[in-house]
Amino acid sequence: MATEIPERLIIGPKEGVTYPLTVAYCGNCSMPLEYCEYYPDYEKCKQWLEKNLPAEFERMKMGGTGDGGATGAGNAANASGEAADGDETKKTQKRGGKGIMKTKKTKDDTPKKVCLSRSARGKRKSVTVVTGLATFDIDLKLAAKFFGTKFACGSSVTGDDEIVIQGDVKDELFDIIPEKWPEIDEDYIDDLGDQKR
Ligand SMILES: [Zn+2]
Repeated sequence: MATEIPERLIIGPKEGVTYPLTVAYCGNCSMPLEYCEYYPDYEKCKQWLEKNLPAEFERMKMGGTGDGGATGAGNAANASGEAADGDETKKTQKRGGKGIMKTKKTKDDTPKKVCLSRSARGKRKSVTVVTGLATFDIDLKLAAKFFGTKFACGSSVTGDDEIVIQGDVKDELFDIIPEKWPEIDEDYIDDLGDQKR
């Protein structure tokens, strides 16, 4: 009696997967590489991967995690839900999937980045606009005050995540920001150049 087993339920080697499967662990989050994408600090994981396991890094970039196609947080929930057709399993996995997506979404919504730009105010005055400090959980009021003291000039919070400093201090900020807030690496600071406002 041969019962037809849907292909998705077959346990064992899958096509397109190279065996033996060695579980590699990430040096950043210490999880198996498949889990890195759910780690809030996935960017750092990727950097670690690129440096230490370039082959794995390439593979993950291609979208194949090697576990049968559950790639991307969004797909993972669907894929596992489909694979396990039993209602109990389905429920449990779906719930897990949603939680994961939430974590990822929060991160995507606020990419950590500080942007500096210069813009003209009047005929020969320019101001420097700093945005993104809030993505590093920095108190904008304190930051504005700090800049004001540092450059001996006007500096104020002008938006949700925006500080305007009177004067052209953009170049100095590239040194001063990482100095004041070591968590903001210079790589996180973007120079937007001259902006019209
Ligand atoms: Zn990782």
